Amino acid sequence: MQLRVLMGDLGQTRVPCRLPGAVILEGSVGYTGTNRKEDVLAIQESLNSVVAALGGPGEPLKEDGIAGPRTQNAILRFQQHWVPYRDSKIEPDKATLRALNRAVGASLTAGIPAAAGPSAGGAVAAGPAPVGAPKAAKPPVLSDADKQAIMKAAIRHATVRSVLLPACYQAALSAVRVATRATAYAGRLPSPTVAREDPDRLKFLLVAKHFKLHEKDPGHARTGTQKIETMIRRMCITLVNRVGKPIPGVPPADDIFVSLWRTPQAVAGHPGYTWLGGLAERHRMLGTLHGGEVPGKLSPDYADRIYLTPEFDKSHDDYRSHVLVHELAHFIGDMQGGWTLDDLGYTYEARYRNNNSYQRLHNADAFASLVRESHFGTTLAAKGAQIAANLLGKGPNVHVAETPVLPPFPSGTKDPFAYPSGGV
Ligand SMILES: [Zn+2]
Repeated sequence: MQLRVLMGDLGQTRVPCRLPGAVILEGSVGYTGTNRKEDVLAIQESLNSVVAALGGPGEPLKEDGIAGPRTQNAILRFQQHWVPYRDSKIEPDKATLRALNRAVGASLTAGIPAAAGPSAGGAVAAGPAPVGAPKAAKPPVLSDADKQAIMKAAIRHATVRSVLLPACYQAALSAVRVATRATAYAGRLPSPTVAREDPDRLKFLLVAKHFKLHEKDPGHARTGTQKIETMIRRMCITLVNRVGKPIPGVPPADDIFVSLWRTPQAVAGHPGYTWLGGLAERHRMLGTLHGGEVPGKLSPDYADRIYLTPEFDKSHDDYRSHVLVHELAHFIGDMQGGWTLDDLGYTYEARYRNNNSYQRLHNADAFASLVRESHFGTTLAAKGAQIAANLLGKGPNVHVAETPVLPPFPSGTKDPFAYPSGGV
């Protein structure tokens, strides 16, 4: 639901508070590695976040920035689970590091057995064992609360995959149909006499309501409906292409949804979070990485996800779908032309009502609302938003029923609150 907490300053530092799974190394770590202290610390922290069943160290490593025998052994053990070679070393942008970043996400994800059995801490197999390496690490000790949280995350993940995402896809498809007809109608503007009888007019009005488009401003309406249609189509395509098939325990490489069993401190209280334009962010970053430049310490794998926290479980199903679409809206932005969908106001906030048309066109919650209403209708949408607001303790002032036909901007004047980009 929230994003900017993680976006921080997009200048030099991309991640103000680095979360596990975001590691990009400057140098190598482990046996014969360069072992910069910061790099070693990052690896120790990440390894400690991996459950033993996925190659984690079992007994947590001391996070001291020193790549001693225990750390080297933990790397070796991790490699046995994930990569076809064993050199007790993690190098920048190589397979072990990619696997580690993914394993951290997987460990935080539902469905991982808590690695309580001895099998998880099995003997270290063949390979160049580091000098002085201790015996294989013991399995981790998870508290009952942790185990319960993992179980809940497993249920959440299964529910999202089997119930909520299919529902979101259907809803997004409905919104595509609405947006397509609205675009067709806007393309025929201005023609007010014919437009009144136009069968697509209601679709246009539905879109216009959420985005404050207006028949009297045909240029804006045309560009706006086209952009809305593009964005919602992109959501549908992403849902089809990127959800992937479930593999027990580990999310598939193309599964963009990750269910966390702990809420990261930086997003406390939020049901989900992602990166603005995360989909594009991944492609852009991969391109940059391949070009040999590392723009900050952020893993593409990390940007390329929508994370759902335990807070997600507290909401009503209708609102949970809303959250998924909302995050998806953030995620799909900015493929070309710098169009991202930010949080310029949530539907339960007064500032949402005060958003002007340009702001709505850049607001994730406006897209989530259109998708919801296109599929379920206004009454249910209003009810869902109300329930959501109450559950979040942010109710009861939910505003949904806007006047379908909005007054025009005064003729000949520009919208004084135009979004900084200057318009659609
Ligand atoms: Zn958001």
